[in-house]
Amino acid sequence: MNIFITADYTFSYADYRSWRQVRSHGNRNGIGDNVANWSGETEEAVEVLINLRMDVEIPSREVWNRDPDALVSHGIVWYTDGSKILEGTGAGVRGVRPRVELSFPLGKHASVFQAEVFAISACVSENLKRGYSNMQHIQICTDNQAALHALKSPRITLQVVLECTNSLAALGQRNKVRLVWVPGHSGVAGNEEADVLARKGSSDTFTGPEPAIGLPYSYPHGSTDNWTREKCQEDWSRGIGLRQARLLIKGPGAAATRSLVNLNRASIAIITGLFTGHGRLNKHLNTIGRNPDSRCRLCGTSDEDSIHVLCHCPRVIVNRHRHFGAGYLAPEDIREVPVDKVLAFARSTRLF
Ligand SMILES: [Zn+2]
Repeated sequence: MNIFITADYTFSYADYRSWRQVRSHGNRNGIGDNVANWSGETEEAVEVLINLRMDVEIPSREVWNRDPDALVSHGIVWYTDGSKILEGTGAGVRGVRPRVELSFPLGKHASVFQAEVFAISACVSENLKRGYSNMQHIQICTDNQAALHALKSPRITLQVVLECTNSLAALGQRNKVRLVWVPGHSGVAGNEEADVLARKGSSDTFTGPEPAIGLPYSYPHGSTDNWTREKCQEDWSRGIGLRQARLLIKGPGAAATRSLVNLNRASIAIITGLFTGHGRLNKHLNTIGRNPDSRCRLCGTSDEDSIHVLCHCPRVIVNRHRHFGAGYLAPEDIREVPVDKVLAFARSTRLF
């Protein structure tokens, strides 16, 4: 089991490093080329924020419900949205004035938040490409408040956010830019249309090397942890042999591991013996030819194995009651009991 875990981690760490390299150079669309090696805060971020001229508005849901038209200014109006489904992540941009429909597949690894910010970024790039100037009123509506907060925050930690802020700063030089929150799934037509485009993006196949728009620092670590955990669990549930252990142990778990390694050698020997069925109980000693009698030293009626002692032996009903709260147990009940309680019960039977 240990060898299995170690091997997986070695493999994953190498991946993690190469992912980080990709991440620090990953820069799709050429937005903000000057920050290709972005990783944290630099003077650049300060400069971006000084140049950033835009209004961020988060009107209440009631205001939107009362009169959505009042919130949509004259001039240029856009809606953006991000979407994540099992197949992948996508971003959508819907121009109301001008009428534009854009949809971007963003691969399997991007988060919804990244997709939301990417959608705003792509929308701003579209505005820059169209060469708007003369202090045009440009309004971009998103249903993601976290994205709006990130874009006006003095602390920028994600590349996709810095790229978006850079483009917004450029657009705000010659235009009046407003970012407005719109409640999602509330029947605001532009928002619904952006949602459809984002969903289209998430179900379309992304062409190119993953990750499409870089990864948050937490991603590789979190996903390799999950993957390793799932693999261990799968291996545990599918494997053959260790009949008693599979009945008594739910699977690999951090909490159980921590309590085990904190025990002394003698206690670890008792616990592993009990859970694997390979301890100093008569059934096992009989199987390996060390004891002619396999019967329970306490009741003398059944084979003395872990499940008999932990769950069924009638002579230790009182001990079971005291430690587990029930006179008899099913093997699956033991899965939920903390290691130290199992140990205290085992000691109380005086079999160990
Ligand atoms: Zn017994």
